[in-house]
Amino acid sequence: MNAVRRIGLTGGIGSGKSTVARVLVGCGAHLVDTDAIARALTLPGGAAMPALAAAFGPQAVAADGALDREHMRRLAFADPTARERLQAILHPLIGEQAAREAAAAGDRPVLFDVPLLAESRHWRARVDRVLVVDCTEATQVARVAQRPGWDAEAARRVIAQQAPRAQRRAIADAVIHNDGITPAQLADEARALWRHWIDAGARP
Ligand code: ADP
Repeated sequence: MNAVRRIGLTGGIGSGKSTVARVLVGCGAHLVDTDAIARALTLPGGAAMPALAAAFGPQAVAADGALDREHMRRLAFADPTARERLQAILHPLIGEQAAREAAAAGDRPVLFDVPLLAESRHWRARVDRVLVVDCTEATQVARVAQRPGWDAEAARRVIAQQAPRAQRRAIADAVIHNDGITPAQLADEARALWRHWIDAGARP
């Protein structure tokens, strides 16, 4: 087996992706969190803000200079062209920052946490393996509805905007089915996969 140095991790909201990411960090992965990168790019003074302000006007910028997330969410939801423009600005910047953070990994395998990996043409080529955490939509909704400020309807709205499960599974090298198992079993599955991909691949 070729050495696995870069894993792309994805999954729909509430699938258990973040939980798996934490377990793999415990195994020794260097985590590159693309959601956190996207947030940092759109904070006051963030590298994406000049281009976003130019593309979407002052309404897209909150009083403190950060992206007005609620405004952009509404716009992107209502207007697919706006969503594409937003992505065309953010995705290259996320990719560049992710590459910088990956370069700091040293010898450690890199785990790219990419919620929209299945939606992006570029990520598949940047990683050696794609790991998908999958569960039924009913389970996703039940988990997300527990979060403060969320309910089932909000969860369903986000799920409807994300790639369908089949699209994610189609790009997977491995799928962890996170339904009907305990968090401890989920962690065991993630660690087993790490041993298979990383520890076994590292043996001469
Ligand atoms: P994601 O990052 O995919 O949105 P999380 O990893 O944050 O999802 O998981 C969503 C919620 O579901 C968290 O509260 C997590 O602890 C819980 N969870 C995940 N997997 C399981 C499981 N197998 N059993 C019980 N709870 C789980």
